[in-house]
Amino acid sequence: MARILVTSAIPYINGIKHLGNLIGSQLPADLYARYMRQRGHDVMFLCATDEHGTPAELAAAKAGKPVAQYCAEMHATQAELARGFGLSFDHFGRSSSPQNHVLTQYFAGRLADNDLIEEKSERQVYSHADGRFLPDRYIEGTCPNCGYDKARGDQCENCTKQLDPTDLIAPHSAISGSTDLEVRETKHLYLRQSQMRGALESWIDAKTDWPILTTSIARKWLNDGEGLRDRGITRDLDWGVPVKRGEQDWSGMEGKVFYVWFDAPIEYIASAQEWAHANGRSEAEWQSWWRTDKGADDVRYVQFMGKDNVPFHTLSFPATIMGSGDPWKLVDYIKSFNYLNYDGGQFSTSQGRGIFMDQALEILPSDYWRWWLLSHAPENSDSEFTWENFQAGVNKDLADVLGNFVSRVTKFCRSKFGETVPDGGAHGPAEAALIADLTQRLRRYEAHMEAIEIRKAASELRAIWVAGNEYLQAAAPWTLFKTNPEGAAASIRLSLNLIRLYAVISRPFIPDAAVSMMTALSTDDDSWPDDVEAALSALPAGHAFSVPDVLFTKISDDQRDEWQARYSGRRA
Ligand SMILES: [Zn+2]
Repeated sequence: MARILVTSAIPYINGIKHLGNLIGSQLPADLYARYMRQRGHDVMFLCATDEHGTPAELAAAKAGKPVAQYCAEMHATQAELARGFGLSFDHFGRSSSPQNHVLTQYFAGRLADNDLIEEKSERQVYSHADGRFLPDRYIEGTCPNCGYDKARGDQCENCTKQLDPTDLIAPHSAISGSTDLEVRETKHLYLRQSQMRGALESWIDAKTDWPILTTSIARKWLNDGEGLRDRGITRDLDWGVPVKRGEQDWSGMEGKVFYVWFDAPIEYIASAQEWAHANGRSEAEWQSWWRTDKGADDVRYVQFMGKDNVPFHTLSFPATIMGSGDPWKLVDYIKSFNYLNYDGGQFSTSQGRGIFMDQALEILPSDYWRWWLLSHAPENSDSEFTWENFQAGVNKDLADVLGNFVSRVTKFCRSKFGETVPDGGAHGPAEAALIADLTQRLRRYEAHMEAIEIRKAASELRAIWVAGNEYLQAAAPWTLFKTNPEGAAASIRLSLNLIRLYAVISRPFIPDAAVSMMTALSTDDDSWPDDVEAALSALPAGHAFSVPDVLFTKISDDQRDEWQARYSGRRA
């Protein structure tokens, strides 16, 4: 039994996530965590909401709520949607937790002790009307280059010129619209990532088993332009983790908070601590996942994320961990994803484009989405959600293949033998061939799941479902029954057992349907089919079952057209 720590990139708090976000980290992380648990490993699966920063403040202001209340409510919403999609977190924490406050301040203190923090003075725009410093992108004005009147203080969207806020003509606050702005001197802390470059490079060089997508992004950031730049870790904001050096006040940093990119990944650790506190576990128990001096040296740590998050997880967060000089656990494997696009364009939270987690669950159960998204995971390139493709995947794989097999077998058995596993007959060459084929495919499925090759695993699982259908079609027990009822009984007995096998191995992908299949078979034997032949006689003759409700309903063309129209515009 191995100990496996799994984290998914933590979703930002400013709204409900779309399906592109879901397949970019949380859903594949759940697939892997579920599979590893089923294979008997000790798994700790952590996630959280990422709650600090200006976008959270602005979203709260737009909703007319204090930011703390907004975050608490949105966390509850995101947690409920995660449950709706069957995401099996051991803990779904919050980066605003007291545990993360203390840990973030602790890490900053350790980095300062190790001479990896530098204080710098900079000039930043202060808005009197807003009573705050404005991040560059929250200052708008006219581009001096092209005359576009909605250029942002960091860049002009129209001509793509990189700008400083002071370059803008007629600058104003993007928050209040006020033009009462002033450039003021302010001090910030910088993490001296440039000092860590050599250590990070050797560490990444040693990760020869990582996906190319992960290491190529890491190397690009490590080597591009000026190389790994020092990065500001503080902001002039109210909402966030107050800047402290461990437990001590930090002179000159009063009223400032840590920058969200610095505290967010530390929440992976804090989430384990929150888990311990919420479940009456000891400090030693959460530390055994995170401290190599306290048991975590035998932990395998796997992270899941979209490609936009790779730089933070391959460079910035490891710089924090290594720079602390403490024996914290570093990641062992990073699985990263390209983007899922939506119907000829991109999913966009800010533009409300695409289908969002709450909308998806309103129209179909989560297994439909889980199957389609996972079997189309954007692993080697971007992939695209279209309603035609979604309809085809659901109807073919889930309804025609898996659902139809379950329905035909249980209904035929009920009509000819009653609702118990029938007795009589024996396996012949067709059954032996099926068992050999399933064994080979199942071993490949296991290898793909171990390697987190999600599309390959899904396609092998689909092939395993297809093999059962082909066997049934060829065995044709409904014909055989007339001349050889014992032979028909043997073939149906095997097929009923195959439903149990399908339930067990499909569970990481479609957990709810797996439960329905197990319930219909009146069994809680969810042992993994290490030996396929033995697994196909787990339910003995005489074992009672019931015919389940339809597992998967087909998506009609009318439904498809209606949903496509409904979700084509902006989300309200
Ligand atoms: Zn411009």
